[in-house]
Amino acid sequence: MSARDRYKVTIYCPSCGERYILRGNKEKNGRIETGFKQCVCSNKEKFHISSEQV
Ligand SMILES: [Zn+2]
Repeated sequence: MSARDRYKVTIYCPSCGERYILRGNKEKNGRIETGFKQCVCSNKEKFHISSEQV
């Protein structure tokens, strides 16, 4: 795991307005894995996600 592949991921839930800021690692398939499962309002799918390399 390289330090270059760390991302700060901001996940915004449009259903309840909750915002999560997580650390993610980019996997080999290009997906950024944060371990985030679902919002406190049970929303699991509809998120606005942005990520920046840190
Ligand atoms: Zn929510």
